[in-house]
Amino acid sequence: MTGTMRAVVKTAYAPGNIELRTIPIPQPGPREILVRVKAAAVCGTDVHIRHWNTWAQARMNPPVVIGHEFSGEVVEVGSDVHTVQVGDRVSSESHISCNNCQICHEGNRHVCPNTKCIGVHQDGCFAEYIVIPEEIAFVYNDPSLPWEQLALMEPLGVSVHGITDVPLAAKAVAIIGAGPLGQMGILTARLTGAAQIIVLEPNAKRAALAKQLGADAVIDPIAEDPVVAVKALTGGYGPHVAVDFSGSKAGMAAAMQYLRPEGQLTCVALPDQSISVSISDFGYRGCSIRGIAGRRMFENWEEMRGLLRRGLDLSPIVTHVLPLEEFEQGLNMTEQGKCGKCILIP
Ligand SMILES: [Zn+2]
Ligand SMILES: [Zn+2]
Repeated sequence: MTGTMRAVVKTAYAPGNIELRTIPIPQPGPREILVRVKAAAVCGTDVHIRHWNTWAQARMNPPVVIGHEFSGEVVEVGSDVHTVQVGDRVSSESHISCNNCQICHEGNRHVCPNTKCIGVHQDGCFAEYIVIPEEIAFVYNDPSLPWEQLALMEPLGVSVHGITDVPLAAKAVAIIGAGPLGQMGILTARLTGAAQIIVLEPNAKRAALAKQLGADAVIDPIAEDPVVAVKALTGGYGPHVAVDFSGSKAGMAAAMQYLRPEGQLTCVALPDQSISVSISDFGYRGCSIRGIAGRRMFENWEEMRGLLRRGLDLSPIVTHVLPLEEFEQGLNMTEQGKCGKCILIP
């Protein structure tokens, strides 16, 4: 396809410098597909790119179209593409692994050291069209699934990775932080059979939404001591698993204290600073701590298919839908935590 398109571009190696520009429609290579973007979601990473933090500085080489969470319709496929067809409704992994290193060979493509990310290393989805490799496209040809929800598969996958790392069936779980990923975590914990879901969230609006999504109890960790409160709700033993979606030092330190012996603290969000903990107390109880990076490729994607089949409904998490031109407002709201997920429509 030839012609031009509107796209949100990080234009310079400096803070700010994000503009709506008219640029050529990209052309797919032999094993790539061209997708007409129907919905794109704003992520905290896009806010970091605007601020130009050290993470973004180390990876980006502007000009780059930003955005990495989207859904769309396939409009063109390369000559060597076999699993995706024109007209397919797709969502996409945002990580492109090398598939040739030892880590990829060992089945851990989600932590491949040579990973390239769309919207970071190469042009992303805050645009009318995007080119992606065939292998990261996921086809969901169910028209009853709205484009806005299909755009959330990438962040949902991180949440599913964190929640399913330890099977929760008939177990008690603490979910720390009820932002969009924590909200997805509550839904996933319910669908995967958790016996008890305890949410820790100081923001009253998010606490109310957590209740609505199926939390059994919501604790305000500022108003009451979370260690005492969580233990009281779990017969004094603590939950089997705590999944942190907050990146809060205090939240993680408390979890290490209230976790049940042999329990696991799963870290989905990562704190900016280091935290100091008593390893001997934690280790004496046989507890473990686990980091979660991206989505397991592609087990978590197949699990999401299963969750959608079981009725997973992300509509309460989509709070704002804006035209692409209003990307600035989407970034502002995401930065201030004033929204669930904000969707841009190119
Ligand atoms: Zn993201
Ligand atoms: Zn690799």
